[in-house]
Amino acid sequence: MECIFCKIIRGEIKSYKIYEDEHVVAFLDINPINPGHTLVVPKKHVENILDADPETISHVFIAVQKVAKLLMEKLGAKGVNIIHNAGREANQEIMHLHVHVIPRYSKDDIKLVDWWRSVVKKMDLEEIYRKIIG
Ligand code: AMP
Ligand code: ZN
Repeated sequence: MECIFCKIIRGEIKSYKIYEDEHVVAFLDINPINPGHTLVVPKKHVENILDADPETISHVFIAVQKVAKLLMEKLGAKGVNIIHNAGREANQEIMHLHVHVIPRYSKDDIKLVDWWRSVVKKMDLEEIYRKIIG
């Protein structure tokens, strides 16, 4: 099975790479939700954070911070949302680990966190807590 992000890493598919080091590549998302929307991807093929070894996770997140700072400096972003979708139920479409770095600008029109906080569900925290720690 051919992985599209492995092809991007090998340079077989065009991408706009904005950062690269020994372990990681970062390139612009082809369907950006804001200017500078970037995907940070390990060169090693792993599916997602659940499948990755600690070293790979560490390389990726060190690069996430560098990319976030780069976008803030060069594009004048005022903040970033960092999103990782792990598993198809969580809307992961490409099964090669990637972290979305989404620059945020004052008065941009993105409702990401507003939406997230608007779907609060009532539930029994005590019961859930017991399941997790029990
Ligand atoms: P996810 O739902 O987290 O798996 O998101 C996959 C992301 O990959 C989407 O935001 C797509 O727009 C992006 N994407 C898919 N193909 C490409 C590509 N060839 N170059 C850049 N980004 C891509
Ligand atoms: Zn891959």
